[in-house]
Amino acid sequence: MADHVQLFLDFIRKSPSAFHAVKTLCDALDAGGFTPLSETQPWRVVPGGKYYVTRNLSSVIAFAVPETGFAHFQIVSSHSDSPTFKLKHICEDETAGGCLRLNVERYGGMIMSSWFDRPLSIAGRVLVREDNALTTKLVDLGRDAVLIPNMPIHFNREVNDGYKYNAQVDLLPLYGGAGSRGMLKAEIARAAGVDTDAIVAQDLFLYARTPGSVWGAQNEFFSCPRIDDLECAYTSAAAFLASEAVGHINVLAVLDNEEVGSGSKQGADSTFLTDVLTRAGAALGATDGEIRAAIAASFMASADNAHAVHPNHPEKYDAQNRTFMNGGVVIKHNANQKYTTDAVSCAVFSSLCAMAGVPVQHFANRSDMLGGSTLGNIANRHASMNTVDIGLAQLAMHSSYETAGCADVEYMVRALTSLYSRSIVMQADGALTIG
Ligand code: ZN
Repeated sequence: MADHVQLFLDFIRKSPSAFHAVKTLCDALDAGGFTPLSETQPWRVVPGGKYYVTRNLSSVIAFAVPETGFAHFQIVSSHSDSPTFKLKHICEDETAGGCLRLNVERYGGMIMSSWFDRPLSIAGRVLVREDNALTTKLVDLGRDAVLIPNMPIHFNREVNDGYKYNAQVDLLPLYGGAGSRGMLKAEIARAAGVDTDAIVAQDLFLYARTPGSVWGAQNEFFSCPRIDDLECAYTSAAAFLASEAVGHINVLAVLDNEEVGSGSKQGADSTFLTDVLTRAGAALGATDGEIRAAIAASFMASADNAHAVHPNHPEKYDAQNRTFMNGGVVIKHNANQKYTTDAVSCAVFSSLCAMAGVPVQHFANRSDMLGGSTLGNIANRHASMNTVDIGLAQLAMHSSYETAGCADVEYMVRALTSLYSRSIVMQADGALTIG
């Protein structure tokens, strides 16, 4: 049996940015016999075919068509991005004494204190100009290259009583000592394999270099960067690649920019998912009416990680609807529809888990606390279908080094394999059968 925890830690190592996460997924899709499609070209799609398409190189949607041709869609969506710091366009900042800092801005809502005093590096993409051609190169410095040093306690005796960090002041990483000016651009160009002058623009982000670790009395926990949401991206891809679509079209969607509200051209609040579903249907010969009927009959799991009860602060969690690491896949509920789960989607997904022998846990926030948001309800504004919000229970969400349960990785792969392998057929509004 595949050791999904080790495979996931490999996935994290290869995926320091959203661009790299999508590249790692595309490599796996290539190896699985999937054909890349381009959004800017006509599509040739045939029954039994397997395809994928990227947008912005930071979101990817793959789909597998059954031999019987066009049908409804069974979708798992997750996100490729994680909170981090983005390098500003002009980022070198030489300070007194000649130290070279990098000017960065926040991307998403990270726990800032977790970024101090640990080895960091830089990854993302650069745009390269050669004559009148612009091309994209992914870049990963791949070494301990920068660090954000804490202030010593002697200058801030109250630091352990709570400190308000200022991203423009406290969080600027140190890159080099005196004489380092210009060296970052040169290092990025070397990593991209181009001349320094050829780079015209960049989307570059910090990432934590601390390697993944499996730990605990029974090696029941693991920790690494970007568990939210690459754990769901990895497990959904593993299930998708292992499943055969029979009676429905399987869809894997890993979308960028969830951490900043999904509002980009490649996020869940874009046309990307509907464009892919509609174009796949049209290429298979379905009419507009048939495509709309298929989308209405479709099912989606919006997979984004959930909160495990923190052992030091159990009072923060709802008394009954609380979830634990290694307790199984989490179904997330919210009366105000921050999560899409309702009785129909909860019944479908918990049945799929029961059929696969996977334990299920239910999460809701305390009624006196605001919860987070995710991509399911946003995607539903564009492609509306029965949708369940799920995830795995983890600790320290949005820290630069997060923690989750080893057994849950396997649980999620099995639950999503069940979703991809069994046909969920809508018989009438609110009435379904699971094949
Ligand atoms: Zn997330």
